[in-house]
Amino acid sequence: MKKDDTKLDHLFPTFKDARKRTKSEVENIEFELDPKYLNLGNGKKYLIQTYGCQANEADSEVMAGILERIGFTKASNPEDSDLIILNTCAIRENAENRIWGEIGRLSHYQKTNPNLIIGLAGCMPQEPDVVERILKKQHAVGLVFGTHNIHKLPEYIYDAYLSKERVIQVYSKEGEIIENLPKIRNHQFKAWVNIMYGCDEFCTYCIVPYTRGKERSRLPEDVILEVEELVKAGYQEVTLLGQNVNAYGKDFKELDYTLGDLLNDLDKTGISRIRFTTSHPRDLDLKTILAMKELKSVMPHLHLPVQSGSDEVLRRMNRRYTKEMYMEKVNLLKEHVKGISITTDIIVGFPNESDQDFEDTLDLVREAKFEGAYTFIYSKRKGTPAAIFEDDTPADVKKKRLLKLNELINAGFKEGNQRFLDEVVEVLVDGPSEKDEAVLAGYTPHNKLINFKGSKSLIGKIVKVKVTKALTWSLQGKLYSNEI
Ligand code: SF4
Repeated sequence: MKKDDTKLDHLFPTFKDARKRTKSEVENIEFELDPKYLNLGNGKKYLIQTYGCQANEADSEVMAGILERIGFTKASNPEDSDLIILNTCAIRENAENRIWGEIGRLSHYQKTNPNLIIGLAGCMPQEPDVVERILKKQHAVGLVFGTHNIHKLPEYIYDAYLSKERVIQVYSKEGEIIENLPKIRNHQFKAWVNIMYGCDEFCTYCIVPYTRGKERSRLPEDVILEVEELVKAGYQEVTLLGQNVNAYGKDFKELDYTLGDLLNDLDKTGISRIRFTTSHPRDLDLKTILAMKELKSVMPHLHLPVQSGSDEVLRRMNRRYTKEMYMEKVNLLKEHVKGISITTDIIVGFPNESDQDFEDTLDLVREAKFEGAYTFIYSKRKGTPAAIFEDDTPADVKKKRLLKLNELINAGFKEGNQRFLDEVVEVLVDGPSEKDEAVLAGYTPHNKLINFKGSKSLIGKIVKVKVTKALTWSLQGKLYSNEI
């Protein structure tokens, strides 16, 4: 795309390009900063507001890393900011509506600071309708970029300052892998580590394959190096990220190397705790399950979205597994990883979900004994196949189903906590509890939140705690020993 210094050519997303999947090789690009951008942010402050999933959390850490590399410093509030980036989520309508409201709220700060740039990033800009709306109505937004070009942020800020024009640069494409990106991590001893990007599953209700490109795995040596550096920096826990981490390595042409292999190699780095998300039941394999069984560093908790317990609904969701196949994976996990904690995602009210379909979902929840779940009412996403599916299930029926499902899920959550009563568990201490400064909070290997009294010197350490009380959402305990 040819560029001159006065008129900027906007780049708009298209679903047509976003849908494309070819066999072309994925390009690995090393991030390099053009020296002309080095002092661009001197004396200026930035604020990043992150919405949605862990992938967005990780992307926000990269945006912060790049902004600080070009001289920006972190602001603590909007009044104090020269650049505010909303890193958005497009998974459900209500997530988007919040953003439109937030842009309205933030635009008032442009009255006192006319040079304040409000930027929109993440998955929403990957939707053509969203960019259309920004162009027509959201004049407060001066910078729009997507999930494929975070590394070009310095260039876009430079253009925005130089031309005083809006910058709209959104690529709809399969995507590359950008390595060597600077990061400002939000946590001192727990880190997000991307192992792959994008998704090729095309579940009929999901916008992600159109907003994040095709499945592409980072090279093992790049992931291992990142974790080795984190261990050296005193990190205790890494969460490996991908839209479908079980597809890790499937796109390697010459290398026969999958998630199970990666877990074995990461175990050798000396990291204390490894978690990974998000899993897809169809791709979860025995090698991964055995790695969970054999490697002490791999935590005995798996988030395994099922979405529905009805084979008919699963077929129309294009999940490509049945209730029975899903339960086979659950039973395999329970057989090999004793005491494993399994949580899930469930959508109720998928177009034309019948009473029987919903009963099948409740049956599956009872059978699988989930210890927690994210539950949602189906949200139509324009551009996805399900958006044009006939749907005559009334909204109040969907709401009633969600309430009924949540009752069952909450009971499972509580039961999942009660099994740890009087047990001594290992806890990575995160910090003071949200409710009480004098109480510490952290997570057990089974990803259970636990609160207990202890000195702040334990923050960042893995200690032993005796569980004294099991509540629905968390555990309470008493410090048992400072060491594991
Ligand atoms: S696997 Fe997950 S991210 Fe991928 S299309 Fe399905 S729901 Fe979306």
